[in-house]
Amino acid sequence: MGNVLFTNVRILDGSGDYPFTGEVLVQGNRIKHVGRGSRTVAANGHTVIDGAGATLMPGMTEAHTHLSWNNASSLEAIFRMPPEEHTLFAANVARTYLEWGWTSCVGAAAAKPRLDVVIRNAINSGLIQGPRYLANSQEIATMGGLGDTTPPHVDVPELSFGWVVTGPEEMRKAVRMFIKYGVDLIKLNLSGEEMTDTGAMETPMSDEECAMAVAEARRRGKRVCAHARSDESVRMCIRHGIEIIYHASYASDETIDMLAAQKDRFFVAPGLGWLVNTARNAGKFGITPESQLGMYYERELQIAIETMRKMHRKGIRVLPGGDYGFAWTPHGNNARDLEYFVDMIGMSPMEAIVSVTKHGGQIMGRPNEIGQVKEGYLADILLVDGDPISNIRVLQDKERILAVMKDGTFFRSPEVTSRRLSVAV
Ligand SMILES: [Zn+2]
Repeated sequence: MGNVLFTNVRILDGSGDYPFTGEVLVQGNRIKHVGRGSRTVAANGHTVIDGAGATLMPGMTEAHTHLSWNNASSLEAIFRMPPEEHTLFAANVARTYLEWGWTSCVGAAAAKPRLDVVIRNAINSGLIQGPRYLANSQEIATMGGLGDTTPPHVDVPELSFGWVVTGPEEMRKAVRMFIKYGVDLIKLNLSGEEMTDTGAMETPMSDEECAMAVAEARRRGKRVCAHARSDESVRMCIRHGIEIIYHASYASDETIDMLAAQKDRFFVAPGLGWLVNTARNAGKFGITPESQLGMYYERELQIAIETMRKMHRKGIRVLPGGDYGFAWTPHGNNARDLEYFVDMIGMSPMEAIVSVTKHGGQIMGRPNEIGQVKEGYLADILLVDGDPISNIRVLQDKERILAVMKDGTFFRSPEVTSRRLSVAV
């Protein structure tokens, strides 16, 4: 499609600055020019798109994505999907993320050893459509910990949802195996999870195993992320420099202070979508709010909200990404996390936008190319009918995401000439 000039758009650039009316010129796969007002650049030779006052913003980044979670109701059911169906399913999920405006996703673990890598490669080669994607390993789990789904008499890593290791040498082998497969990230299950045999406040992975994983990943230039609900597991992340921390519900005040002291190093993605919907909206799947598990998750949610409020106040980057892909958290409407950030943890809508754009570019490891509408950045752009700053929920309405551009190419082209600017939100 040559060069594309967006005119008459409200530019919400992801930097934290308030929107302004202007123009954006995309040349190839990059943003060539951002201007305030109109006619800031000659329209000759460009495809001109009159945004009719729609919001133009950066594509969003999901910080905790499982493309291969298949909207089932248990880890075992996710894992048991045969590989052929599973691969097609994950390819379709990748497309779903683009449809909803997520142009970048941080893989947070795959359900089969090579699944994330295969999907990422297929996206990058143009075989399928999907977001920019950091491919992850399976969850590396300890025997009997979260991710070990084998029955008590079975000890075969291939038969478990997570890759089960015991001791540093098995960890070394697992990390090297996943790096050989081509992952960008290694996922460690440091803490437990209430719905499994190991509770969220427990930390089944040992310090030696964790240290080995980080050392082996670093040796090959890979990053590590961790399922870390317990206070001790968050401490392990700090101790070993695991920069992507998932959940962190039970981080103590002292731990929060330690994170705040290195706030430019760490990212926290609490996965509120999982907590909210497991506690409150999973009744059809056997977890009613009155059940023991339902009450447990409601309690963790309340504690996580307090923890995230404190972290946000101290300037720690808290990012959206809600562990979507279970029956009660189906893929797609992940922007609910932004509403939770505003309603529950005290972010302003602008702060929520920064977390899903600018901070998203940072967690993708490309802070100078992804997450902002700025000259020189990659052209990952959304046109939105409405103002997310007035109403963060507009991002949950696929109909209002008028256009999705990734890398300078429209995944969904706009039909904005027929739309009116939605002022009333
Ligand atoms: Zn997860």
